[in-house]
Amino acid sequence: MKPINRLTRVCFCLVLIAAAISSPFLVAQTPKRTAVKAARMLDVKNGNVIKNPVVMIENGRISEVGEGLSIPADAEVIDLGTSILLPGLIDTHTHLLSNFKPEFGGDDPNMVLTVAQQSNAKRALLGSVMGRQMLDAGFTTIRDLGNAGVNGDIALRDSIRDGWVMGPRMMVSTRAVSVTGGQFGSISSESQKMIDQEYVIVNGVEEARKAVRQAIYDGADCIKVIVNSATGLLSLEEVKAIVDESHRLNKKVAAHAIGNQATRIAAMVGVDSIEHAYMIPDDALQMMAQKRIFLVPTDFPAEFYLDVVPPPPNSSPAQIQQMKDAVKQFALASQKRLDRAVKAGVRIAAGSDSYYKVPNKTRGQLSILMFRAYAAAGMIPLEIIRAATINAADLLAGERAEFGSIEKGKYADLIAVPGDPLVDITELERVHFVMKGGVVIRK
Ligand SMILES: [Zn+2]
Repeated sequence: MKPINRLTRVCFCLVLIAAAISSPFLVAQTPKRTAVKAARMLDVKNGNVIKNPVVMIENGRISEVGEGLSIPADAEVIDLGTSILLPGLIDTHTHLLSNFKPEFGGDDPNMVLTVAQQSNAKRALLGSVMGRQMLDAGFTTIRDLGNAGVNGDIALRDSIRDGWVMGPRMMVSTRAVSVTGGQFGSISSESQKMIDQEYVIVNGVEEARKAVRQAIYDGADCIKVIVNSATGLLSLEEVKAIVDESHRLNKKVAAHAIGNQATRIAAMVGVDSIEHAYMIPDDALQMMAQKRIFLVPTDFPAEFYLDVVPPPPNSSPAQIQQMKDAVKQFALASQKRLDRAVKAGVRIAAGSDSYYKVPNKTRGQLSILMFRAYAAAGMIPLEIIRAATINAADLLAGERAEFGSIEKGKYADLIAVPGDPLVDITELERVHFVMKGGVVIRK
């Protein structure tokens, strides 16, 4: 072999080695490490405030957390100054794929118009906007409970998980399993087919089991059941079949229930959470406490009610006053039942149930107002924060929860607020830093 050829070979080898050193495909890179530091951090579980916390993050998860940890030289540092760090918030009752308009005159006409005018695809795109707004407000995980068309929630959940769109981590129910009519109000029998776009109607225990299996086949993380509506009430046997089938397949059940009968049925058969329960008897609350069933109080502060559902145009001052009085009464009754629930030892998980478009507020800014309603009912700030973090995580995923607290191994879901939320819960309305799974969303 001639010398010139040997030289060519040597050069070629050098080029290969250089390529190998610089190529991300051939050489393992050390994972990027991030350190988040702040003046204080709330240990939600114990109620302690930790000074000078450092949260170390690798591959989207918390690798270490503690007071004044030494930060490796190669770590990217995010210094939040005088702020207070908390775990990302969780909303356990959302409807990201619905955005009702107050001017249409309430839930019933909105439901019909939404189903008639918006495709599942359009609603999923709407959900991506609502989801981003929730995330910006500090909600890093949500449980979406129906009114999402036919599996639009699955499309949104998966798109967020795959990084197509930025949004909160989602657990979804697909279509709610419901008593006849769903939550449509009165529509003509000829229009009843529309209901199938939004609910799975069941009559009898076999249909109840079948609906759960369909939801799970469609990709549901949990099951939502409408125990009662304005016109109907599922039987104890039907709700029991839904719960048995869901639990057999390791899915939790969220029950929409209002009033004595529906809340009793839900509590008796052992659902995992009762939503709303604006009216609930003491014996049902006691069953909830015994069985560790969560109450999700989808409450809203009275002072903002008329922003969400304003009086119809041309209302007289007397009519407006009447509406204001009615709203106040409803808010007071809701506060009383939440106070009764807390005193009975019922665990609370935060859930906003926002689905209206409100001027000058994003979906996140609207949802976060629920904390004011909880405070008005007498809940102390630490309990409210627990309801929106560790309790909510427990409801959504139990011991397997990988979110909801700032602990080693969990997803790095963090928020920061300027002032002390243990003194003033409205500090949570001033979230200025959001990280989800180690990715900075707002800074
Ligand atoms: Zn709801």
